[in-house]
Amino acid sequence: MADFLITGGTGYVPEDGLTGAQMFSSGEGMTYNDFIILPGFIDFTADSVDLTSALTKKIKLKAPLVSSPMDTVTESDMAIAMALCGGIGIIHHNCTAEYQATEVLKVKRYRHGFIRDPVVLTPSHKVRDVIEIKKKHGFCGIPVTDTGRMGGKLLGIVTSRDIDFMEKSATLSLEEVMTPAEELITAPNGITLQEAYTILEKSKKGKLPIVNERFELVSLIARTDLKKSRNYPSASMDEGKQLLVGAAIGTREEDKHRLELLVNAGVDVVVLDSSQGNSTFQILMIKYIKDKYADLQVIGGNVVTAAQAKNLIDAGVDALRVGMGSGSICITQEVMAVGRSQATAVYKVAEYARRFGIPVIADGGISFAGHIIKALSLGASTVMMGSMLAGTSESPGEYFFADGVRLKKYRGMGSLEAMEKRDGKGSASDRYFHSETDTVKVAQGVSGAIQDKGSCLRFLPYLQTGLRHGCQDIGAQNLSQLRAMMYCGELKFEKRTAAAQYEGGVHGLYSVGGRIFQF
Ligand code: IMP
Repeated sequence: MADFLITGGTGYVPEDGLTGAQMFSSGEGMTYNDFIILPGFIDFTADSVDLTSALTKKIKLKAPLVSSPMDTVTESDMAIAMALCGGIGIIHHNCTAEYQATEVLKVKRYRHGFIRDPVVLTPSHKVRDVIEIKKKHGFCGIPVTDTGRMGGKLLGIVTSRDIDFMEKSATLSLEEVMTPAEELITAPNGITLQEAYTILEKSKKGKLPIVNERFELVSLIARTDLKKSRNYPSASMDEGKQLLVGAAIGTREEDKHRLELLVNAGVDVVVLDSSQGNSTFQILMIKYIKDKYADLQVIGGNVVTAAQAKNLIDAGVDALRVGMGSGSICITQEVMAVGRSQATAVYKVAEYARRFGIPVIADGGISFAGHIIKALSLGASTVMMGSMLAGTSESPGEYFFADGVRLKKYRGMGSLEAMEKRDGKGSASDRYFHSETDTVKVAQGVSGAIQDKGSCLRFLPYLQTGLRHGCQDIGAQNLSQLRAMMYCGELKFEKRTAAAQYEGGVHGLYSVGGRIFQF
């Protein structure tokens, strides 16, 4: 009988892999690339995996994805895209309180398919202005109001047909060429997209102006947009069907005024933005908010240890943001010598916070869809991303070219550039708190550029599909199950040597190219 045969039937399976507790017991700092998750058993399809997860005690998201409050990542466009895809965006605060509150308001007022800030002209504009706009934006069909702005009384529309062959009459005023209000087909405010679509289908018009009872222009619907527009059944919405949005604030006295403006604009959750959140300032601010705005959800942080987490949980936070020094643009660990490896930080804080029902956001260090699955498998409820979302069309800033590559700026909020920025939006970042007596500003972040990634509305569904497939391979049909499997020891991990990490990435090719997802 060969001595390698094990008797006793097929019931016996040798112990294999490490539990979460075992993996993090050594005292070594580990991050996402240091380990891999061992596969489980599949008895469901990937599309049946439910990614619903808690952002805070009271807010649930259909996708565990959060965009970071950085001035090259999240303003209203990003927050709208994040919410449409089931996540949430946190609007940065490196701007005046008024600017930030307006960005929040834009998200709350957003209605899918409705153009929020169309180009509008006055009757005294000239045909050449329309020709210019057509050249620049590629569209025509411009509403004309008495003020030349949204909210003005609708007087007409100029379309391509009105100005065709009019290059020679470029100085004619729009009053003379536009289709006047009496001949327009309009729709009342409050109309649904479906109703608008039916009107556009029947009338064969390209644009449908939406007006209020005083015939003032409140929005515009374009036929081409409607054809493109998809449904977003997982969109993150409040009870009034408005998109969810968050905003970051600091912990100084003047942040109380900022907070008030944000609350008035309808913000759903605030993030106390600090790289080391375990401070008297933050504890006092949490108590102030809980006292004054009992319904507002508050995310505290950042923390990386259970001891830090304890103070913020005791003060009343609704979620914790975890990470210190793991961000792609971050030099905190190098300059301050303080922080923690991200996988260890997420595991340790989540393991403590779950006892109090406090969800954890794994913030920073996410470079692949797989890193998100790893963060969630270590107990995080959601992940916060900066570099993954920078460079998309929804991130603030203009594209530029360098060496033939289309890029957008991405910078740390503790970079000197962010702290000294002058872009007309004002500046108020105190995440990397400098006291008034500091004569030298010490950067905790750097500035760089990220390659164009296209629209988040495509990128986020790719991430979600990746997550579903990861969960399927693990054998977890939803994220609560994933966490439960980890805490009961059923989910097994393995540490990876440097050679194993190399093997796990693309290697041995002469050249690499091609897309990583297709719609
Ligand atoms: P990323 O997703 O790896 O790019 O990391 C984004 C995270 O880095 C943010 O959500 C912040 O927590 C953190 N962060 C942003 N700016 C700075 C900085 O200047 N220094 C250190 N960390 C930063």
